[in-house]
Amino acid sequence: MKLSVVVPCYNEEAVVTRFDAALRAVLERLGVAYEVCYVDDGSGDGTLARLRGLVQRHRATTRYLSFSRNFGKEPAMLAGLRAATGDAVILMDADLQHPPELIERMLDLYQLGHDQVVAKRDRAGDRRLRTALSRLYYRAVNTWVDVELTDGVGDFRLLSRKAVDALLSLPEYNRFSKGLFSWIGFDTVTFDYRNAARGAGETKWRFGSLVNYGIDGMLSFNCRPLRLAIYAGLGLAALATVYTLWIIGAAVVGGVTAPGYVTLVAIIVGLGGLQMVMLGLIGEYIGRIYYETKRRPHFLLKETDGPPPAPEPADV
Ligand code: UDP
Ligand code: MG
Repeated sequence: MKLSVVVPCYNEEAVVTRFDAALRAVLERLGVAYEVCYVDDGSGDGTLARLRGLVQRHRATTRYLSFSRNFGKEPAMLAGLRAATGDAVILMDADLQHPPELIERMLDLYQLGHDQVVAKRDRAGDRRLRTALSRLYYRAVNTWVDVELTDGVGDFRLLSRKAVDALLSLPEYNRFSKGLFSWIGFDTVTFDYRNAARGAGETKWRFGSLVNYGIDGMLSFNCRPLRLAIYAGLGLAALATVYTLWIIGAAVVGGVTAPGYVTLVAIIVGLGGLQMVMLGLIGEYIGRIYYETKRRPHFLLKETDGPPPAPEPADV
């Protein structure tokens, strides 16, 4: 069998060479046939030069793709999956947070017949607030969204050819891999590992981008949040009816008095806010439709050392 390792890299010049050496040491020790496919996601530093160097040194087992600009990790992973030719593909980060030593374990589990072998990290080293927020988020997603997401489970995983082909058959423009992995199903096995600190360089995540990623996760899979909006609207309408009846009753019994200015303002502001949220929600879905209908490619290649990866799936 042949193993492909797909590695998205964005501004990883400080660590990618070290990563490559560590990865190669493990792969050579395991004695499997392999290829490493680096995807330079439009890095602004010396990453591309490093990748060219790596390919020159290990021409038989290494290749790289380079994007015309930074498209994001999702398109980078997609490009790597398209380029990969192995019977199994491992996705991993270039920053040594995904320890190459775990590949042996993944291969063992793959040989047992699993189609997805998932490495689940603990949250050692994360801030306590981030851990708590994540836990809350996953609980919310799993109640409201159809697809099952697990905390600590990321992109570090081995996929069988079957699973890779399934992923590649999904043509959507907005790709939320965490959900797609779970959506395609197949025989999945998870094992735990200890979270490692970044080898060098810094994370590309800011708090804002995490929040946006979270919203993506909620909206990428179904329209259940819209259903939630309907329920909220119905609930509020019911409350309003009861309250109105109560006020009328009170007026009949005790005559008309006119306090309640604060209540009024609070209700107006509250309802206004709620309506804006709902509008935004609808807008998000429409925005997604807008992007899907444009049918733009997920990424544009600037250069690569070999044949370009398989083209986008044909329009349907
Ligand atoms: N990455 C990428 N494109 C981006 C952002 C990140 O290809 O726009 C790559 C990055 O080079 C790394 C991996 O995705 O190999 C994970 O990124 P990072 O370490 O910043 O994320 P974290 O580990 O903090 O979740
Ligand atoms: Mg990282």
